[in-house]
Amino acid sequence: MTEHGLLIGGEWEHAAETIPTIDPSDGTVIARLARGTAADVDRAVTAAEAALSGAWGALPAFERGRILTRIGALILEHQDALTRIEAADVGKPLRQARADVIACARYFEFYGGAADKVMGDTIPFLDGYTVLTLREPHGVTGHIIPWNYPLQILGRSVAAALAMGNACVLKPAEDASLSALMVARLAIEAGLPPGALNVVTGLGEEAGAALARHPGVNHLSFTGSVEVGRLIQAAAALNTIPVTLELGGKSPQLVFADADLDAALPFVVNAVIQNAGQTCSAGSRLLVEDAIYDTFLARVAERFRALRAGPASRDLDLGPVVNAGQRERVERFLALARKDGLPILAEGTIEADVPSEGHYVRPTLIGDVPPDHPLAQEEVFGPVLSAIRVRDEEHALEVANGTPYGLVAGIWTRDGGRQFRLARRLKAGQVFINNYGAAGGVELPFGGVKASGHGREKGFEALLGFSTTKTVALRHG
Ligand code: NAP
Ligand code: MG
Repeated sequence: MTEHGLLIGGEWEHAAETIPTIDPSDGTVIARLARGTAADVDRAVTAAEAALSGAWGALPAFERGRILTRIGALILEHQDALTRIEAADVGKPLRQARADVIACARYFEFYGGAADKVMGDTIPFLDGYTVLTLREPHGVTGHIIPWNYPLQILGRSVAAALAMGNACVLKPAEDASLSALMVARLAIEAGLPPGALNVVTGLGEEAGAALARHPGVNHLSFTGSVEVGRLIQAAAALNTIPVTLELGGKSPQLVFADADLDAALPFVVNAVIQNAGQTCSAGSRLLVEDAIYDTFLARVAERFRALRAGPASRDLDLGPVVNAGQRERVERFLALARKDGLPILAEGTIEADVPSEGHYVRPTLIGDVPPDHPLAQEEVFGPVLSAIRVRDEEHALEVANGTPYGLVAGIWTRDGGRQFRLARRLKAGQVFINNYGAAGGVELPFGGVKASGHGREKGFEALLGFSTTKTVALRHG
């Protein structure tokens, strides 16, 4: 069995201890990961510092861009292998895993092209002065990423940080580190200088916590749960460094009577079943105007009944969820819905012959969920859609904004005034009108408000987050 090492300063190192990584489709151990320690994190930070004062720090921006573009090309070249790895490691149906590989390559291409296009300003000022601003890297950036979209989240965070000339220490999730290790190998092959990207796998409380509190780290990018996000922000506060938090969501889709319902239907279903619902921006609340509630929900229910879950390699609508804990979490929410008498409008099926050690859950549509019920307030992180009946636009807005989260929202209406009234009043980092997710939107700034976090990744804006302004004021008389 492959035993993976740590990438520190351009060298692969064996760790004293390893941890297993599991294929959630059948429960088999597919590889072993290095269990990185605080000492490993410390050496990775030192290697990143050395890269900044060495070959990596000396590269002009366009050369950094070229390397990133080459990494993107290599990811595409190895797309079949990466697809298989991601499908086996996370449990994603093959088509979804492939989409993630392609998105990861896009991030490297996008940020490769952008690396030499971030400029400072010259600022009109007092007579006798010339004032300009420089965009500079933070230095060493720490990246802690989750298991649900390892390739996409690695791409959006590491590629943007490298584009600006930072040196990265990456801690992938213990449940899904394999694709990150392969991208790191491709990065070296593409000519990324040693130490510009270091990868320390291991446990969150060990390697993750050590990275979050390390005094040599100058910026932290964290994607994951609200609970751990708060710990990361607290650790960052002790070192007085900036932090980007991409946390969870309970994102609403608002469907009005005047909408193109045929267009809305596939988006409404897909937004909550993609990656078996383990998506931070899952459209997990469906707010439907009273006048069409029953007829539209009947159509959504029909789609849910047709959904099939099975091993990732069969490429069905859904794979398993990532681990036993995640399955128990989803089952707990479903049991609560039943206990509270919420109507189960439809369930999909789990293939009859799935391996017994796989972690499968049934896609479920629940109707008439009270807006204050846990199923309308808390992130299930599974293929469970909570439908809520709303009276009108004002009521829909109140319910939509009535959770602790604010990540994304979808609006389905043909009324142009309503589209923009709601887009402005919805508390979310992204609003989609007559679509949901904008096909992934590598180019589009992404992030949350309220408990969904702060700071923006993706798009050009991420480059500003991964750099800082230095103002240079020259008095020449
Ligand atoms: P998580 O438990 O918060 O883990 C995220 C990362 O943090 C993992 O690498 C984890 O390592 C690490 N970690 C855990 N405890 C830590 C600690 N004490 N100190 C430092 N690092 C620590 O979240 P998850 O269960 O993997 O992911 C699910 C959550 O992520 C959901 O709430 C989802 O909404 C959110 N999410 C948000 C976005 C977004 O962009 N907004 C995207 C994807 C997911 P280990 O895995 O080794 O424990
Ligand atoms: Mg795994």
